[in-house]
Amino acid sequence: MQVQVLGSSSGTPTKSRNVSGYAVFRDDQKPWYLVDCGEATQHQILKTKLALYHLEAVFITHKHGDHCYGLPGLIASAGLSGRTQTLRIVAPTEVLEFVRAAMAMSEWTLPFNLELVDFEELSGQIFSWVKVQICPLQHRVPSQGFKFIETQIPRKLDIERLRAEQIASGPLTTFCSVERM
Ligand SMILES: [Zn+2]
Repeated sequence: MQVQVLGSSSGTPTKSRNVSGYAVFRDDQKPWYLVDCGEATQHQILKTKLALYHLEAVFITHKHGDHCYGLPGLIASAGLSGRTQTLRIVAPTEVLEFVRAAMAMSEWTLPFNLELVDFEELSGQIFSWVKVQICPLQHRVPSQGFKFIETQIPRKLDIERLRAEQIASGPLTTFCSVERM
């Protein structure tokens, strides 16, 4: 699992840092996850190898704008990417209301199902290769961090290390003997 910082500037962007956005991905998996989506996060994504087409879910830590003002544009662009699979937004109630209002006011039509999930409902959600848990954070408004736990860790033998440790190859026929009482 890798995390790519798309923005870490608080409140306002600077010339070299955008506002909050963090991509969580794995090289052997197409679905990926986004934590926070400040304004222009979709521009930051364009600078990576990640595509909105494969974005599975967005997790918003709290309702402050530098963490969520990028959502309407990102969702609209995902609609133009040709994706058809569901996109989930996990966020506080107010942020979900913000997304609903933006959709209603600008008359969006999306070619995919947009699933708006309140923080409280996260425990019942299943994702492609992670389990996600919320962890309360201290801030001026209710905030949640997200713990990503990989559920599909590829098993791969480190052949070089096995040779270095002089572990014989092939089936292990004797391990230990146990004396019967
Ligand atoms: Zn804040």
